[in-house]
Amino acid sequence: MAILADQHVHSHHSGDSTERMEAVAERAVRLGMTDLCFTDHNDFDYPDVGDPRVTPTTFCLDTDAYYREYLDLRAHYAGRISLQYGVELGLQPQLAGENRAFAASKPFDLIIASIHVANRRDPYYPSFYEGRTEEEAMREMLEATLENISLYDDFDVLGHLDYIIRYFPSGRQTMDMTPFSGLLDDILRLLILRGQGLDLNTAPLWKKGYPEMNPSRQILTRYRELGGRIVTFGSDAHQAEHVGDAFDLAEKLAVESGFTEYAVFRNRKPDMRKLTSVS
Ligand SMILES: [Zn+2]
Ligand SMILES: [Zn+2]
Repeated sequence: MAILADQHVHSHHSGDSTERMEAVAERAVRLGMTDLCFTDHNDFDYPDVGDPRVTPTTFCLDTDAYYREYLDLRAHYAGRISLQYGVELGLQPQLAGENRAFAASKPFDLIIASIHVANRRDPYYPSFYEGRTEEEAMREMLEATLENISLYDDFDVLGHLDYIIRYFPSGRQTMDMTPFSGLLDDILRLLILRGQGLDLNTAPLWKKGYPEMNPSRQILTRYRELGGRIVTFGSDAHQAEHVGDAFDLAEKLAVESGFTEYAVFRNRKPDMRKLTSVS
């Protein structure tokens, strides 16, 4: 494996994971990684999605407990792997102020901004798609993404852009993004203008066997054409066994999209590393 940093992993500090942080770190060490960034969920004010397991605070992070455990682990693994302290921060328009205070509350190495909710509804659930086409659902997510990143800018990479493809009721694995090119360009140009990057999320590759990561090559190629350079790789593992999953394929997809480097974040700053050229 040539990509030696997984920068999107979850632990029991996330509302949807029970994994021990140490197990995640141990797995990364076994894989020979040089860097691992924990990015547990913080989504304030989660809407009622009709799921009894989810309350408004299910995805609220106890940053003190999370930071203490991280510091212990970082000391324990010193010299073996560089561990980083990050967060996957859920954006909603009404949360810009609250998220800004949250981002400043701890010395994060990396902030991934993710849009898990559009207009108080979560595309994870089939009800999101009722009475409309998947294209219409995609457009709503992209519009919500543009609105959210216009209102809130304190983050480093945009999480899993186009990930609603994973949840399409039809089971289709790809979508032609040409109809959304104006909207996508607005999103990508804003990121580039601010020096922000894209989280290359391998979950659809390893979890579902899909041919594309999030975002797809079509989007990645456009980000590159417009001058974007910053990409991070993340498995989005919620269990230790999935750390680094599908990174070889992800590297190939990134190289095919025109990238020669990837970023490893420390103290909110990207350190660029070379991608191995893939034939
Ligand atoms: Zn996410
Ligand atoms: Zn995640």
